[in-house]
Amino acid sequence: MNIRASAGTAPNESIPVLRPQLPSADRLLPYLRQIDSTRFYSNYGQLVQQLEQRLAEHLKLAQRSVASAASGTAALIGGILASAGRARPERNLAILPAYTFIATAVAAEQCGYQPYLADIDPDTWILDGETGIPVVIDGAASFEGISDDPGQYLGITPVALSFHATKSFATAEGGAVISTDLALCERAGLALNFGLGGTRDSATASINGKMSEYHAAVGLAELDGWTAKRAAFRNLSEMYQTLATAAGLGGRLVTAPDVAGCYVLFRCSSTDEARCVQDSLEQSSIGYRLWYGLGMHQQTYFTGLPRDDLATTNHIAPLVLGLPVATDLTEAAVTRVIRALARGCL
Ligand SMILES: *Cc1c(COP(=O)(O)O)cnc(C)c1O
Repeated sequence: MNIRASAGTAPNESIPVLRPQLPSADRLLPYLRQIDSTRFYSNYGQLVQQLEQRLAEHLKLAQRSVASAASGTAALIGGILASAGRARPERNLAILPAYTFIATAVAAEQCGYQPYLADIDPDTWILDGETGIPVVIDGAASFEGISDDPGQYLGITPVALSFHATKSFATAEGGAVISTDLALCERAGLALNFGLGGTRDSATASINGKMSEYHAAVGLAELDGWTAKRAAFRNLSEMYQTLATAAGLGGRLVTAPDVAGCYVLFRCSSTDEARCVQDSLEQSSIGYRLWYGLGMHQQTYFTGLPRDDLATTNHIAPLVLGLPVATDLTEAAVTRVIRALARGCL
């Protein structure tokens, strides 16, 4: 018997909503040995530079189009400081969607902006981007999408990525700002390193948002194994779709390639159904999560934010349930999840 069978294989074992898997110690070792020999631990050493170069190649972009960051949130701050700069009294609002992760508002606030919440489009779940003001795209979990079609998603407008452990491409903590505007990328790099360029003079608004060499080591090993990891996510989403269709739940799951491989989302048709489906998942010890909660305005700290009418966010947010994902989630486990969904549907 395989005592190391993955989570969810035994009939009553609990299935966590997300069980990340980053490169093993063995795969990290060659990179860690490089750190031992160079004794360079941060401040844009060889490994960070190599990661930025390899990511640019992977995305078919020119060198220096990728500015690494300590987190996705730091990448957002770098992107905002490099494009719009800090807030000014006469230009102090940042419009952002109410249906997103908290980090989007946190980053805007740390750059001095008052976040202003706007509603999402009911079909695309995003904001209308035709605003005529500086835009930074929080593309935190979009690595697969931009890898597939860099030309469609990447341009001058900076895109902030997160490499958090829960994201498909992960360095545990990390992120990057990506833009074809190389001067903007350079400004983002400055903003993430105390405003310091080649001298000891702090020249711009900044934070310490640098990626360390250790995190870059994880990123390089993650890129080495990316083809396999990506395929595992794709296989899982296909397995979910096939089993859902067989159970009469076709069309209810939102999976890759429409969203990142680290998400499998179930769309409930009403709040009553959402309640029943959640009860059913809980009874079967299956983890689930409303990844963006009920919207930014429902977070205690952000309840007072100025906002538009958020009817679509309020309608959609409680109906979208994040389901278990792991690159090694078994067919038996996915079958249990689908059965629990079917039992909960009204
Ligand atoms: C994950 C995520 C972030 C935050 O990234 P961190 O690396 O955790 O700082 C920001 N925005 C969205 C939409 C995310 O999904």
